[in-house]
Amino acid sequence: MTQLSHETRALRPTHPRAEPTQLLTSGSAAEYAELLHTVVDSIAERFRTVRYPGSGASRSELASLIDSIDLDGDGIGSKPALAEADELYARNAVWFHVPGYAAHLNCPVLLPAVAAEALLASINTSVDTYDQSLIATLMERRLLDWAATSIGFTGGDGIFTSGGTQSNLQALYLAREKAMSRSNAALGDLRVFTTAASHFSIARSCHLLGLSPQALIHVATDAEGRMDPDALRGALADLTRERSTDVVVAVAITAGTTDRGVIDPIAPISSICAENRIWLHVDAAYGGGLLLSPTRRSLLDGIERASSVTIDFHKTFFQPVSSSALIVSDAQDLSAASWHADYLNPADEAAAYDPDPNQVDRSLQTTRRFDALKLWTTLRALGSAHVGALFDEVCDLAERVREDLLNDPEFRVFGTTDLSTVLFRYQPHGLDDESARILVPEIRADLLHSGRAMVARTVVDGSACLKLTLLNPHTTQDDLADVIELVRVTARGLLAKKGERA
Ligand SMILES: *Cc1c(COP(=O)(O)O)cnc(C)c1O
Repeated sequence: MTQLSHETRALRPTHPRAEPTQLLTSGSAAEYAELLHTVVDSIAERFRTVRYPGSGASRSELASLIDSIDLDGDGIGSKPALAEADELYARNAVWFHVPGYAAHLNCPVLLPAVAAEALLASINTSVDTYDQSLIATLMERRLLDWAATSIGFTGGDGIFTSGGTQSNLQALYLAREKAMSRSNAALGDLRVFTTAASHFSIARSCHLLGLSPQALIHVATDAEGRMDPDALRGALADLTRERSTDVVVAVAITAGTTDRGVIDPIAPISSICAENRIWLHVDAAYGGGLLLSPTRRSLLDGIERASSVTIDFHKTFFQPVSSSALIVSDAQDLSAASWHADYLNPADEAAAYDPDPNQVDRSLQTTRRFDALKLWTTLRALGSAHVGALFDEVCDLAERVREDLLNDPEFRVFGTTDLSTVLFRYQPHGLDDESARILVPEIRADLLHSGRAMVARTVVDGSACLKLTLLNPHTTQDDLADVIELVRVTARGLLAKKGERA
């Protein structure tokens, strides 16, 4: 017996499968259609009936449900497995489309994008090289060109990524490479200017990129947390004066901070960066939706002078996770991400046959989802102006809800917003700061446990507060009045209980 036939025999299954193979192929097209219809029907039923963001099930209840599932036993078949997933996951999922959900930057998703998700998952395209999908690569590149043009870049380029975290990492990586190619600076000499309100991924990226713990310099802000351009100018001058070996990698500003939703002054900061030939990164993971806004686009004025921009389509473009992009103003800058491998994108082939590099040469990922299809179908289905108007409605709503809270003597409002967050806490006249602060996590936990509403919490200027993050254009002012009423009733109940105990 030859070695080969021995091995072949060893690979053959020793007992027949419970059902025919479940691979999606020509032979299973009918089953595929039936299975997906079943799943679509059950999820549609959930959407018809779900009223609250949470099921209210506790962590220990859910953990014991999960622990009871046998992952090593015989298969139960696709339909039963999906029915089980519906019971486990869909029944207990957190729903972002209901008005009671106002916690984090999660959005309800647009129909054409969800349908496109099924399409791209079934075909399972990977957009790493042209030969793996010419059409998908061309579509993704057209969309990146569209995004660059929306920003105001001429000759820009970009790459779809898994999220804002990855987009920010890649932006700082490209900036670091450029800074190091221009100078003989050591890693320890590199500096990044940002504010204390920038997303934590900026700080973590600096760490991942080998920068020193002193690399990140927090520039002073105005009372709302927006970077102060004069303070940036001063900090840059201090750096050159005091430590002449230090090299500035980038100024990383935020268009829509995660907590307050405020936008750093892009135009004046872009001028300072241009004067000093410094890479300006704009993290517009949250505020990127304003690119299409019919009334608020001017809040992003100056973004066209950035070197790189992060946009999360899975936030303010109402796309299913994941869908994000890093866009750069100078296409050449992306080449710092390229790396040649003989089995994928050999250097000689790139030069000989195709003047345009593969997407893998612009990405930190190799195998990569064709997320671009979702945004593509969205723009085609709704039109870009309609998408921009959706985020605009959410920002309008935040303004009205903030007014409602300001006019309510039982609540105290913190700060303002440029986008769609509202910071507040229950603090009627006579309730001291300390008691109001202690109530914040208690209210949030009670609401979470009831499953009826979800709000976030944070700390601004040392004050603990609750946070509404609005990303649902269908939520109304009345819906949010109901959420606020729930907060009020919960807070009063908690105070009454404390009064009894005292
Ligand atoms: C959400 C967010 C990020 C992180 O994006 P992910 O898609 O969650 O990785 C980065 N920056 C800002 C300002 C954000 O709001």
